Amino acid sequence: MIKKTAVIFESFEGKIRPPSWEALTCAVELSNGDTDEIQLILLGEKLEALAQEISEKGGRNVIAIETGNGGFYNSARYKSILTGLFREQGVTHICLAGTTQGLDYAPGLAIRMDAACLTGVEGVFDAGDRLGYVRSIHGGKIVERLSVAAPLTVIVTQPGTFKPFSDSNSAQGTVDLRADSGEESTIRNIEIKQVQKESSALAEASIIVSAGRGFKEEENLDLIRQLSTVFTKSAVAGSRPLCDLGWLEYSQQVGVTGAMVAPNLYLACGISGAAQHISGMRNAGFIVAINIDPKAAIFNYSDVCIVEDLTTFIPTVIETFEKLKAI
Ligand SMILES: Cc1cc2nc3c(=O)[nH]c(=O)nc-3n(C[C@H](O)[C@H](O)[C@H](O)COP(=O)(O)OP(=O)(O)OC[C@H]3O[C@@H](n4cnc5c(N)ncnc54)[C@H](O)[C@@H]3O)c2cc1C
Repeated sequence: MIKKTAVIFESFEGKIRPPSWEALTCAVELSNGDTDEIQLILLGEKLEALAQEISEKGGRNVIAIETGNGGFYNSARYKSILTGLFREQGVTHICLAGTTQGLDYAPGLAIRMDAACLTGVEGVFDAGDRLGYVRSIHGGKIVERLSVAAPLTVIVTQPGTFKPFSDSNSAQGTVDLRADSGEESTIRNIEIKQVQKESSALAEASIIVSAGRGFKEEENLDLIRQLSTVFTKSAVAGSRPLCDLGWLEYSQQVGVTGAMVAPNLYLACGISGAAQHISGMRNAGFIVAINIDPKAAIFNYSDVCIVEDLTTFIPTVIETFEKLKAI
């Protein structure tokens, strides 16, 4: 069967969100070379330049739809516009990134289109007469492989799991600019503002020491700060629960809703390894994890696995370092 795949790109403040390029890689991986078609879609406001950029870097035709409404994302409008477009186009697969926005409208879009919806997709494979999909479940402890019987599939990629698309040989596609404000929505957008900038400390650090809920008490975070001083060009980061508790700044959060980091060394201390955290750090050069649970999912992604209590192990590391420094 010839596949016709649509990739929905997402933009914010005039820039393409990086996970969109990963969704394109997923579409390329599930397509069959020359016979299948991949169409790129962009919604928002003042799209011409962005659409040109996508058609150039993505090497495929782009349909850019001006949605009005100040360019604000609105789930009802998006679902209505996209349903009309995809019915007209007769697509078989729809790929989009699992950002907060993507996860918000993908299931509703699938319901409207009578399609299957797979979120958290980390890989695709040939499952014989159909495509197979891979995703992690139960906080990354189990990997699930599944296939879809429905004629149309909405695939939501897990950020950080597919490589961002890049092909220097691809020829530029065309741009088709349209206007469609979709159906009236019960939701009114008032304002969208970025409250959290990506931490330059994390982006610039060669070594990141990262804390998780295994620290149990805020006072124990002194340990991670002391450990950080052992290394030069290092920064302290953490999992989302510590940021939600206010023990760390949101700019220090690593993961799908935090920063995507790729230091030379990532030290994960008392972090279980939930898929949302892994997405943000799996591209680190070398990963060392400390956890009391030998079955913690973080160990599946680590180069060195230390099964120890961090409250005894980290002071021992610091003490040993101090002794070595004194020699
Ligand atoms: C939409 C969405 C987005 C999300 N985005 C993010 C994100 O961007 N980043 C993120 O991190 N999370 C994110 N999460 C949350 C994520 O699902 C996990 O809940 C979170 O990552 C778990 O944090 P943790 O590993 O610190 O805590 P836990 O899962 O509670 O793990 C604590 C770990 O510490 C270990 N431990 C306990 N005591 C000790 C000890 N004394 N010594 C050593 N180890 C010990 C335990 O064995 C356990 O493995 C998101 C969730 C959702 C639903």
